[in-house]
Amino acid sequence: MSIEVVNISKSYKNFMALRDVSLQIPEGELVALLGPSGSGKTTLLRLIAGLEQPEQGSILFNGEDNTDRDVRERQVGFVFQHYALFRHMNIFDNIAFGLTVRPRKTRPSKQEIQEKVHSLLKLVQLDGLAHRYPSQLSGGQRQRVALARALAVEPKFLLLDEPFGALDTKVRQELRRWLRHLHGKLGLTILFVTHDQEEAMELADQVVVMNEGRVEQVGPPEEIYNRPANPFVYSFLGRVNLFQGRIRDGKVQLGEAEFETQWTQKAGEYAAVGYMRPHDVEISLTPKKGQSVPAQIRHISLLGSIVRLDLRRLDTDEVFEAELTRQRFAELQLEEKGTVYVTLHNLSF
Ligand code: ADP
Ligand code: MG
Repeated sequence: MSIEVVNISKSYKNFMALRDVSLQIPEGELVALLGPSGSGKTTLLRLIAGLEQPEQGSILFNGEDNTDRDVRERQVGFVFQHYALFRHMNIFDNIAFGLTVRPRKTRPSKQEIQEKVHSLLKLVQLDGLAHRYPSQLSGGQRQRVALARALAVEPKFLLLDEPFGALDTKVRQELRRWLRHLHGKLGLTILFVTHDQEEAMELADQVVVMNEGRVEQVGPPEEIYNRPANPFVYSFLGRVNLFQGRIRDGKVQLGEAEFETQWTQKAGEYAAVGYMRPHDVEISLTPKKGQSVPAQIRHISLLGSIVRLDLRRLDTDEVFEAELTRQRFAELQLEEKGTVYVTLHNLSF
């Protein structure tokens, strides 16, 4: 089912949690709501679910206005970060819960419930554990039970609020891969909240970047990463270097060097702050005339497959970071306090 949010605003007392938010989620997509804590992600999810009412705006499902419809009629499945399972119920009963509480007329038979729960247990790869209690499962297994419970009622879409937030890195990675697989299999529309840019980039077809109750940008992960709409998105999506430069004829002057720039805001000559990613810093041991600036290595961090350098420009004292592969690092034989020459790619102004 497609979801459309149109000009939604929501405040708590005097505080605006959402400001004129609009969003379109096509049927069958896996969409990430990405933003820092307090940016309004949970509020937006609760409004879509029908747990809260907006002051302004509307919410459409498949083009049909659902703004005033009760939560129970919306047929959404949701999983929250700390969505506790019923402790006194075993896994089978936890998953079956949504079906057993249905009014008699629409309630499936015992046999049907049995079959449904077993197929869901298989889907979330927990078959054989139906009779365990939540306390006998790991965190990752519990979140999969929560997902199975959300899926039991055959929701038209799934809303997941930081579903893996409380789990350790390794389990999170496993569950991410698993969620992507599940999405491929079910073809369900899924909106999931995360404050982790890597999680959003890895999983989502579309990423919605939120900040201070607003949508800052919507797009596929590479587009958001490579063509961020503004400085907030730029710095939220990854590490960023800032440089003072002069733009002239679409090129950037930094000290003695001139670099190409991705985009400039206006024509003519002016001073501006440029942004770039650390992995777009090219390191050389010898200067390239007019195309590099000298820098000193202040610190070297070995971070698994990549190496990060803390650098200081020798001409301006500006500090910045470079990231390079282990292999390139080994080739260059870099050492702390050494001087290198840097060429900057993909500078944006
Ligand atoms: P996120 O999920 O992105 O961390 P939330 O949607 O939970 O953000 O919250 C957005 C803002 O609204 C926060 O500043 C939060 O303190 C505020 N807020 C959320 N729920 C309530 C509430 N029930 N009462 C008052 N303020 C709230
Ligand atoms: Mg939240």
